This record gives sequence, C-alpha cells and structure tokens, in this order.
Amino acid sequence: MKKKTNQGGAVTDITNQDPSTIKVLTVGNNSEQVEASNQEDKMELARRDAYIDPKTRDLLRQLLQLGDKAEITPAYDPQEGFVYRMTNLDQKDAGANKLSIEFLGNLSALNLLEKKFFDTASGCPYCESTIMTMHTRCPRCKSHDILKTSLTEHIPCGNIDPKENYIENRCPKCGELLVNGKFRNMGRWYVCKACSERFENPEFDLVCHHCSKNFTLKDVQVLELPKFSLNLARKKEIRQNVASLEEIRVLLAELGFKIEIPGLVTGQKSGMQHRFSLIARKEVNRQPIVIALDHAISETEIQPQPLILYVYKISEVKVDIPIFIAIPKLNADAEKIAEGNHILLIEELNDQKEIAQRIKKEIEKLESQKNPSSRPDKEEKNSFFNKLKIKKV
Ligand SMILES: [Zn+2]
Ligand SMILES: [Zn+2]
Ligand SMILES: [Zn+2]
Repeated sequence: MKKKTNQGGAVTDITNQDPSTIKVLTVGNNSEQVEASNQEDKMELARRDAYIDPKTRDLLRQLLQLGDKAEITPAYDPQEGFVYRMTNLDQKDAGANKLSIEFLGNLSALNLLEKKFFDTASGCPYCESTIMTMHTRCPRCKSHDILKTSLTEHIPCGNIDPKENYIENRCPKCGELLVNGKFRNMGRWYVCKACSERFENPEFDLVCHHCSKNFTLKDVQVLELPKFSLNLARKKEIRQNVASLEEIRVLLAELGFKIEIPGLVTGQKSGMQHRFSLIARKEVNRQPIVIALDHAISETEIQPQPLILYVYKISEVKVDIPIFIAIPKLNADAEKIAEGNHILLIEELNDQKEIAQRIKKEIEKLESQKNPSSRPDKEEKNSFFNKLKIKKV
C-alpha cells in the first residue's frame, strides 16, 4: 500500500471539473456505457462486468475450489435434453444451478472459460431439441402403421405371407400343410397395414417432442456439445477478482451492511444511473454509511480512465468509503488520482490484511462519529477482527 499523500486538489482531484469535459462520461445515459477505444478495452470491460454477475462469480468460485481439472460436461436429462450444471452440487439444487450453453459460451468468448470438444448430438432442425423419437415408416405411403415380421413363401403355390398367417402350419392360400423343403423363410420384412406394401428396407423419420414437427434422418441438425473448464491462463486474474469481491462482500455482510452487486445509484446532479461493482449501505443512528466499490482489470497496468470515471461517479453519490480494486495494478498516473481522492486501493500485490484493517478502521471511525454514545463491545470487536482476513480462494 502506497503512503497516502494529501496533495489531492491540484493534480488529481477532478471532482470539480465540468462533467462534459470528461470524455468517458458522454456516452448514453448510463455512465457505464463507456466507449471503449479498442477491442481489448471492450473485452476487459465485458470481463469485469462478468465478475460482478452473481451467477458468474458463483461458477468461477466453484471451479477454483474444484481445482484445475474441473470440467463442466453436458448430461442428458430425459425431460430437458442436454444440460450443463456444476457437478459438485446436491440433487436438490440441480435445477437452480443449471447453466445454459449460451452463458457458458459467453464466458469462453471472454476467455474466462476454455471450451473443448466433448461430443455432438442430433437435434431437431426446427428447434434444436434433442428430445426426439425415431419411427419406421412405409417408403410408399409414409405411414407409421407398420408391422415388422418375417415372411414365409409356400413354394408349391407361390404364396408369401407373414409367418403368423400360416395358422396350424397350413398355407392360408391353398390350405396345404407346410412340409420341409416346400417352404422358405424370407427373413425380416415389413408390411404396411395402411397400403399393404411389403418391403425389406423401411424409411425412418423423427418426431421432435418439443415442437412436434417431423423430419427425416438426413435433415437432423448436428449440435455441438462442448465441455468447459477454467481458462488456466487467466487463473490468477480470476482468483484475484473473485476473491477480493467475495471477501469484501462477506466482511461487509457480517458487519451488518446491505450489499448490492452490482449497485445502481442515480447521480444527484446528472440524474444518470451510475453502476458500481458493489454498493454497501448501513444505517447508524439513522444516518447512512455508504461504501462504493469499483474494479478494473487489464492485461498490463490499469490506465486512469476507469478510475476517472469512478471518481466522477462518487462525486455524484454520497460515498463514505470509496474502494477501488485494480488487477493487476494502477499505472503511475492513475495511482496519483487514487491518492488524491483518498480512495482505498486494492491491487494484486497488496497486503490483504492491511486492506481489511483499513476498511475496518474507516468503518469504525464512521460508526463512532455517527453514534458517539455507543462503543462496540468486546465480543463484537473480537469477531470483527477475525472476519477481516482477506483470504485467497
Ligand atoms: Zn404404405
Ligand atoms: Zn399354398
Ligand atoms: Zn423441434
């Protein structure tokens, strides 16, 4: 942690600037709709947004816990077709923990997950469902009213009939008994009960039980059934993001804060909706304490832009403790902005304990200001300290 300097105003305090001069703020009516300057920026923004999506965080956390070999593979459910879900969850939760292939595909497009071949399956060409049945049909009239049988020929009279029509071994045409050498089994045949056609090679078609349409075998879709795993090349970043956000969430929740991830707040001056990675609120003596956290990620160093946006947002919203997570770290200019605006900064190499102490100290200070008569009792203080360890996942 860098030592905090108090030279704020001159170089780094941008909160008094006219917002219209800050380029990143002018897009749309949501301050988060930042116009990313290139594809990589867009990816980083999208990835950062993924980290504050609760379902994504849960999934990434579970994958981290399960270890490097953990995979999410498709399983067939007779009611739903192929579904993806986390494997370590108990059956009761299975429905709630279903993961759509679109959701997983999106995370692999963001390079958070790695997508690999697992299998392909045949699907309905109309709705892609895999809940289908295959039917034998008559090649002449297409009816499903088919009998699969073996045909027997009575050689002397030339009659050909299904075996079961030779009642008591008598030919149904000429009435003679079947005698060895005088009849021939012609093997497997099909008889259409609708048009009486007899044939050796039937046609097949499929009926989809999701959309009720039918189609032939050659029309079925080939559906990709990939498997997914954590993108190990990005494991460090994933762990840092998931761990920092999660640990701070747990810490604040245990301290009685109400937490929103992401947190949406309407700006006091602009009326724009500001989106924070996390907003935590608590009332002490009927006075609110607000913590606003944002985070930024980058392949290298974080540029000032996301921090400038954050500083603008907290100038519009009453924030008591501003926290910014920068993974891996801020660049030098951005660092000055953070110092100048007294932002509690969390970087990859920070001492997590020290940060927790600082968050705790700030909260304690605020709480005693708002409620000078009450002091936290001993027991609360102890558990309070215990909860302040920011652990890695
Ligand atoms: Zn037929
Ligand atoms: Zn006969
Ligand atoms: Zn269908």
